[in-house]
Amino acid sequence: MTELNASVAIIGGGIIGASAAYNLANFQGIKDVVVLEKSQIGSGSTRASLGGFRYQFSNELGVRLSLESIEILDGFEKQFGYDPLIKRDGYVFIASKESSITQLKANQKMARDLGVNVEYLERSELENMFPFYSFENSLGGTFCPEDGHASTLAVLQGYVSKAKELGVRFCENSEVIRIRRDRSKVMGMFTRDGTKVNTSKILIAAGAYSGLVGDLASVAIPVKPYPRKILVTHSFQDGIPKDIPIIVDIDSTLAIGREGSSVILADNEPTESNFKLDFPPDYDDRVISKAIEKVPSLSKAAISYSNTGLYEMTPDANPIVSRVEPLEGLYCCAGFAGHGFMHAPAVGRLIAEMIAGSKPHRDISSYAIGRFNAQSVSPEEQLII
Ligand SMILES: Cc1cc2nc3c(=O)[nH]c(=O)nc-3n(C[C@H](O)[C@H](O)[C@H](O)COP(=O)(O)OP(=O)(O)OC[C@H]3O[C@@H](n4cnc5c(N)ncnc54)[C@H](O)[C@@H]3O)c2cc1C
Repeated sequence: MTELNASVAIIGGGIIGASAAYNLANFQGIKDVVVLEKSQIGSGSTRASLGGFRYQFSNELGVRLSLESIEILDGFEKQFGYDPLIKRDGYVFIASKESSITQLKANQKMARDLGVNVEYLERSELENMFPFYSFENSLGGTFCPEDGHASTLAVLQGYVSKAKELGVRFCENSEVIRIRRDRSKVMGMFTRDGTKVNTSKILIAAGAYSGLVGDLASVAIPVKPYPRKILVTHSFQDGIPKDIPIIVDIDSTLAIGREGSSVILADNEPTESNFKLDFPPDYDDRVISKAIEKVPSLSKAAISYSNTGLYEMTPDANPIVSRVEPLEGLYCCAGFAGHGFMHAPAVGRLIAEMIAGSKPHRDISSYAIGRFNAQSVSPEEQLII
């Protein structure tokens, strides 16, 4: 039997596990870190991410994590040697219900108070700016031109290669099947191929699988998987400019944007929680019909491929970045819905501080797992895309 010793073992080799590993080794001086990945590095939700980043959130901590993370992305090439291919083409959130407009205006005020340039646009302004799109039922929307997207895989590669240089071990095809614990603390784990890992600190960064991994330690991690699908057209122009923002209708749940010369169509309608990436047979047709209502020229576009993956949802759509009490040595960083890529730089740093026993540089207590046992639940994040 192979036996490994590590100060910290991370379960999950996605963008969150990689960022946490790098931050432990680089800023906390903990270099004997092992990352156990059941398949290949980045093969989970990270592979499906479109690399979108945005400052627009309905909760303040979300905006603050974006401010910190996007600053790291801006300096990424210098620090890590990988160009994250940042493109700032903006996000627009539009709405057709008064209550949604009230929410968007509150988000805009909060973002502006935090120094982010988010504009509120009346319907007529939206029509002038984006004439290819029908705003017929929309009342208005918010636009942040500094939102954008980057290459998830370049950022993942940057974290993994720097972490390796610092001594972190990444073990692929290493599924953790048992967590060893006594009554009060973790002691290690076993992988499917029989490797025994001895450690006193375990970070669960298993994305949508974090609930299942929690079960291995007999702790409840309320993260559920929800399949998501993005349809990508062939190269398509027909009146749709090359650089458009992602336009998200928060009431119809449709999002339209660009990926290179293609148009991307996504729908956030609630789906059933499951690990299989199965969608109803009429799913694509429904999304395409909705999209044609908004952008009529899309009736001439053909779908080239689709991109599927799992969103990892907690009951309030905010993540868990936390110790998992009462088990000593167990931590969790998961449940990022559709924004795990964009917040990975900041949360990787925060969870590394927690694991090292330092005071986190930002108050992240509202993401503690204990909130799900409390009487009062935190306000649900409203902007899920
Ligand atoms: C279609 C789609 C589009 C998205 N677009 C964006 C976007 O534009 N911007 C954005 O910020 N976010 C986006 N996201 C969300 C983002 O991809 C995720 O939040 C992020 O990748 C989560 O990273 P992670 O490391 O926590 O999870 P993952 O990447 O899923 O990594 C977890 C890893 O744990 C491994 N694992 C699970 N169980 C075990 C076990 N027992 N033992 C060992 N390993 C295990 C898995 O194999 C997996 O590789 C999108 C998600 C989807 C599905």
